[in-house]
This record gives sequence, C-alpha cells and structure tokens, in this order.
Amino acid sequence: MSPRLYNEPSPLEVKILTRRFGLPNSQSIDTYLATGGYEAFRKALEMTPEEIIEEVKASNLRGRGGAGFPTGMKWGFVPRESPLPKYVVVNADEGEPGTCKDRLLMEHDPHQLLEGMLIAARAVGAERGYIYIRGEYRYLIEILDRAIGEAYERGFLGDNILGTGMRFHVYTHSGAGSYECGEESALLESLEGKRGVPRIRPPFPATAGLFQCPTVLNNVETFCAIPAIIRDGGKAFAALGTPRNGGTRLFCISGHVNRPGVYELPMGFNLLRMIHEVAGGVRDGRKLKAVIPGGSSCPVLKAEECDLPMDFDSVAQAGSMLGSGGVVVMDETTDMVRVAVRIAKFYQHESCGWCVPCREGTTWLRHLLTRIDQGIAKPSELDLVVEICNNMLGRTFCPLGDAAAMPIRSFVMKFREEFEARLRRPMVAVPDPDSLVVS
Ligand code: SF4
Repeated sequence: MSPRLYNEPSPLEVKILTRRFGLPNSQSIDTYLATGGYEAFRKALEMTPEEIIEEVKASNLRGRGGAGFPTGMKWGFVPRESPLPKYVVVNADEGEPGTCKDRLLMEHDPHQLLEGMLIAARAVGAERGYIYIRGEYRYLIEILDRAIGEAYERGFLGDNILGTGMRFHVYTHSGAGSYECGEESALLESLEGKRGVPRIRPPFPATAGLFQCPTVLNNVETFCAIPAIIRDGGKAFAALGTPRNGGTRLFCISGHVNRPGVYELPMGFNLLRMIHEVAGGVRDGRKLKAVIPGGSSCPVLKAEECDLPMDFDSVAQAGSMLGSGGVVVMDETTDMVRVAVRIAKFYQHESCGWCVPCREGTTWLRHLLTRIDQGIAKPSELDLVVEICNNMLGRTFCPLGDAAAMPIRSFVMKFREEFEARLRRPMVAVPDPDSLVVS
C-alpha cells in the first residue's frame, strides 16, 4: 500500500527525511532496503557508542519536539556504566495545534524511525524501545507494528541482531488523547500505566526515565534524522542549516495560504519565502496579518516581524519560538480575539489541573476572553488577562502553563486595539423573533 501525499512537494524543499515520501510501497522494508535503508545502522555497528554520539553532536541536531535541546548532548547524559536497563522512547504524541509532521514520517517511512531508534540503542546500550503514539493516530499503530514485524523477520530487531549479539526489542504504546502526555515526564508516567502528570525534575530521563532507568527520549522527527547523520556524517547534516541549528526541518504550514502542507526545508529558511514561495502565498491575494511560527504555544508574530530565518535562535530573538514547526498563517480577515479565545479553550481543556497557576489561570483566561469576545467585558478585564498571563509565566510545574500564557499575552499586546474595540462594542439587543413576523 502506498500512503497518500497530503500536498504537492515544493521544488524548494531539501528532501532528507522525506526522500521516500511518494515512492510506491514506501512503508515496506523492501523499498527501504532498496533505497539505502539500514545502511546507517550497519555503519553504526562498526562505530563505538562514543563515536556515534560525537557524530550526532557534530550534526547540531536539536530536538524537534519543541524545546530544541541538542540531541547529541542529551544522549551523552545517559550513564554508560549504569547496571540498570536502558530504554529508547519515541515521543509520537504529536498534539500541538498546527503540527502534523510526525504522523507523515511514520505513515510514509516507518523504517526510518526504527533505524533511528536502533542507532540510539547502539549509542547508549539500550535493549528495549517504545513508541508512545497519540491515541488519535490509531491507524499508524498498524503501520508501525507491520514495520516492526518486518524488521524482526529480516534480523534488524531481536536477540541477536544481524548476528552481532546486539539485543533490541520495540513496542508501540497508544496514548489516550492527552496533550499533556507530550511532555516527556508525563509521557513516561503514562507509559508506566499511571496518570499522565509531569514528574518533579531533576532527575531527568537520561538518568531516571522509564521505570526510573536511564532513557533516551526524543521526538519522531529527531530519531528520523539520525540515519542521515550517521550515513552522511554529522558535519554534512549541520551544513544544511545555520550555525547551532543543523539540518532540515519539517514545517507544517497551515491557515490562510494557497498550498498548506508539510514541507522539508533547511533550518534557517526565511519565513516570508516559506509563505509566499513554498506555500503559494496568502489565499485570495489578501494581506498577511500574523503568523504563529511554531505551534499554538508560541507567541504570535505580526506581519512586519516575519522576515526572519526559521531556526531556534533567530525565532527566539524575534520574541517567539520555533517550537514544533507548526506555522499558522493568518490573513487580514482574521479575528484575533477569536483566535485568542480558541487557544485559551484548548489549554484550559488540556491542563492536567495539578498546579494552581495553570489550573486556575487557564480557566480564568478562557472565561475572561470569552466575555471580551461576547462584548460584555469591562475594560479592566483586558488588563486582568495580561496580569493573569504574567502570573502564570514561569510559575507552573510544567511548560503547559507557559504554553497557554505566552501566545495569549502576545495576542493582547500586539493586537490590543482589536480587543479594546470588542470591549467598547455596545451591547446589541437581540430582537424578539415574534416581533419580526410580518402578518
Ligand atoms: Fe498540569 Fe498545567 Fe501544572 Fe503542567 S502546568 S502540571 S499541565 S496544571
């Protein structure tokens, strides 16, 4: 079976992780092997664990789940001499609004993910790996399980991989639809069968992760980049991007563009070019109003702030975040109050409720923004929205509190006049329907 493509590729793409997208039977191990698959793993078997980690460090690969932490450094924190079992865990709980790239990587090229896991296992000495996949992606579990079965049949998984004595077993595990379980420590709790709430850290998963054992935990896209790094060398991967931001990135361009889709572009690709040249420009020839550059948890950028390279450092310098690569484009017709309400509703619904600033803050943000949207809020309530955001930032147990407060505060601060206009809107009396009946 060949998975369908969700958008036409762009000639500006640099296809490294997506190079098998669109090939007939791209999910099968035969296609994978015929196109260089598992060669990087064979190469990794000839390397020492330290050499593999050094190569990943040289690639300047930074975690693609959102935080952008250097992957090689993360792997280097796993203690080599620990007597405890070690684990490789894939965060496939892709739930950030605006982000839909991990599902394509798993749907089109599941063996690339397995090869990345195998190389990670070789680097840290892990014997078991788990793919924690969001419940809504149930159809992908079948694809992954089929690929895992093929890998066992061909000797890439099992107790004596390719006759080398290496052991590695992989399992899929379905989440139950909680955004919070995309946070790594909550994911581990959930994977252990407990309620998905974050853990107190430190210790971090590298030393005390799954079942309190050393664990490499990365996003799907991060693992999928590993085969290319080992195959072509870390420096070659790093050269595709900008300093400290190696490689390519899958950008999910959605919203008011003519060709929404997932595009693989070099790190540092200009955001305006991405919108106009890759995604076909703003729909119906309208003007660009704003962009959320990395998924709904990132502060919004006004149109005049969008001429910037899309890498972790440049977007941070512009006051936002590259996040998970979900580029949400809004044209001049967008109602910013409505967008803020929608974001507030999402985070209030997804808050696990454990810590007060997030549980209460998200509830009040939703309540106040809804009142503003309905035109029934007093002017002081707008200031209260900003005050609540300020009181949440940096004061919550996990990043979800910040994820709710940062975008909402940015919407109010950058488009304040729209919120104020909604406050001033006079109450519209709803006519009695019976009075409209013409007799
Ligand atoms: Fe739960 Fe929100 Fe606190 Fe995170 S910030 S622990 S989601 S209540």
